[in-house]
Amino acid sequence: MTREHLIKPLLTAHYPTIAYGKGVFLYDSEGKSYLDASSGAVTAGIGHGVQEIIDAMLAQAQKVSFVYRSQFTSEPAEQLAKRLSDLAPGHDYWSFFVNSGSEATETAMKIAIQYWQEQGVRGKTKVISRRMSYHGITLGALSMSGHVARRRRFIPLLEELPLVAPPYCYRCPFHLEASSCGMACADDLETVIKRIGAEHIAAFIAEPIIGAAGGAVVPPDGYYQQIKAICERHGILMIADEVMTGIARTGAMFGMEHWGVEPDLIALGKGLSAGYTPIAATLAKDHVMEPILAGSKIVMSGHTFSANPQSAAVSLAVLDYIEGRQLAKAAEEKGRCLLQALERVAEGCPIIGDVRGKGLLLGLELVADRAAKTPFAPAVGLTQRLVERAMAKGLLIYPAAGGVEGAGDAVIIAPPLVITNEEIDLLASRLEEAVHEVMEEVMG
Ligand code: PMP
Repeated sequence: MTREHLIKPLLTAHYPTIAYGKGVFLYDSEGKSYLDASSGAVTAGIGHGVQEIIDAMLAQAQKVSFVYRSQFTSEPAEQLAKRLSDLAPGHDYWSFFVNSGSEATETAMKIAIQYWQEQGVRGKTKVISRRMSYHGITLGALSMSGHVARRRRFIPLLEELPLVAPPYCYRCPFHLEASSCGMACADDLETVIKRIGAEHIAAFIAEPIIGAAGGAVVPPDGYYQQIKAICERHGILMIADEVMTGIARTGAMFGMEHWGVEPDLIALGKGLSAGYTPIAATLAKDHVMEPILAGSKIVMSGHTFSANPQSAAVSLAVLDYIEGRQLAKAAEEKGRCLLQALERVAEGCPIIGDVRGKGLLLGLELVADRAAKTPFAPAVGLTQRLVERAMAKGLLIYPAAGGVEGAGDAVIIAPPLVITNEEIDLLASRLEEAVHEVMEEVMG
């Protein structure tokens, strides 16, 4: 065998070589096509090979691709910041551009801490998150993440941050019924704040809909309103990690719109450029920036590629495309069709324990016994089996297992927002076949 040089996710696995993409399909170098039902990592929101984005890319590249933000600002970066402020819940946000979701959440954490420091409050340095959560892979972002499998090796390096119960109704952490639970999961935040002392806590961070660590877990209505009230009562900033949910994915431009909550800080990534170029952003409300503007006047963070005009121009073109075609609305409508299709698939597949999600961020939880909600033993590797089987059938889905101790296998189904009804049917039929085959394999 010839020597390899590229470090791939699983070093020993064989990955097909991508040739090109068009719409919701990807084609490998051997001519096999794949329906991209995960938009990669819930990223390629407008599908592949969109000419308008390619044109915008080229137009910006012909002017200038990179300038260092300590030397120049640029029209695309200024316009993108204004555009995001106009779109975000409650408006009045500043934007700090970065290159990945991990950088966006970590920057949000730093801005939250700096916000308190600029006011002379030095002890508020902890960020609370939830046990079922994923906020990124860098050490600060991973410290805020509950994701068990991704943390394990690095625990000695991670900051010990408090974790609260997730709003995970399928397996309620308090063993309560959704109709009468009194939202014990939201109250858990207040319990933990009181135990640790609000004087140590800068912020609380949450994904509006839990993605990689749970598989499109939607909280009960009223949850975020209660969370926001608790944050306000105790003088704690609220960070919405909209890296996966943001930019029309859930049927609204921002996930938090579903609950009418205006976070103090928002992290964006993935769909912001729909994958055409790396860009992510941390949005901070005016009132968060005020003490920084009055104080040191510098957000103490940044990356070489931050706010580069090339990525900002691409992101503007992606927003034009999404708004011009009303893709938030499309996500809601197509999401409803896809949810129904998945529910139909689940009828004949007892290993599908739960079908959930919002808009085109949907998830399946897979169980050995539907009535008892018994998870498969981790050794079965069910999520990976299903992802691989689906891929063999020309269907890409996203694994969301290993996020939390005791929870089962899960996958995310999140196709580009431009998916058609015929493509939804194809998705459902390939998925049904894959689930049936895996079911036969593991259940006999
Ligand atoms: N936050 C959330 C909610 C995510 O889903 C992800 C990526 N799966 C991240 C942060 C990290 O983003 P990135 O991989 O771009 O660093």
